[in-house]
Amino acid sequence: MASVRKVVKNCAWEFAKRQRRCARDKSHIIAAGEKCLVVKENMVKKNYCLQCAKLIISCAKKDIEELSVQLREINKE
Ligand SMILES: [Zn+2]
Repeated sequence: MASVRKVVKNCAWEFAKRQRRCARDKSHIIAAGEKCLVVKENMVKKNYCLQCAKLIISCAKKDIEELSVQLREINKE
């Protein structure tokens, strides 16, 4: 059987080896040893602090939920 395509695959948690800055807001400091969300896009890695990661994840959840709602509507047609 064909495998199911994973669409959320460019995001992963990493430990910051050194201090990093959040890509969404440069004033957000990610301290060395802290976890951060790394999003890979066109070979570029962007780091996000936990606060911004929470927003990114809830936004992605909303997008997925919207697709799911649309699919239910399509199936009703
Ligand atoms: Zn941030």
